Parts: sequence; structure tokens; C-alpha cells
Amino acid sequence: MLAIERAPLLPTATGTPCVQDPDLWFSSAAADQARAVRLCGACPLRGPCALGARERRERYGVWGGETSSDRGGAGQQREGDRRGR
Ligand code: SF4
Repeated sequence: MLAIERAPLLPTATGTPCVQDPDLWFSSAAADQARAVRLCGACPLRGPCALGARERRERYGVWGGETSSDRGGAGQQREGDRRGR
């Protein structure tokens, strides 16, 4: 799902860590979010990914190594959003 939704924004996202385990990036567990943030740290798309999430005002998930709180959003993780990536 991530590759399909991100393809227009990040054409090379198919090889990124979040594609391997997309649920981790939308987990409500702090430990999972911290792990996703760490994994984003090694992603070559981190900068544009974070910028894109801020521009789109993404309310949920870890994008570019930033949580919704990092982006200044009040978004809470929802189970239904976990598969939206
Ligand atoms: S920075 Fe993180 S969320 Fe963005 S494409 Fe890379 S692994 Fe996925």
C-alpha cells in the first residue's frame, strides 16, 4: 500500500524500510514509533519525506523520521490508518 500511495511523491520509495513493515510506521506504541524513527534515519528519502509530510499536514504515522508530535500535529494513531501507507 505504501508504494502505491507514495509513488507520485517519492518514486523510489519501494526500497525504503517502511515498505517492508508499514504497520510499524503507524503503530500507536511508543517503542514502535521510536523504532520507525530510527529506521527512517538510514533512509535516503528522509528529507523530502519529512518535508512532504509537513506540507501535506500528515496527522498520522512516522514520516521522514518524524512522529505526528514532531510535526506539531495532534494526530493520534488509529488502527484503521495503519494500513493506509
Ligand atoms: S524516511 Fe521513513 S517514512 Fe520516509 S520513505 Fe524513508 S523509511 Fe519511509
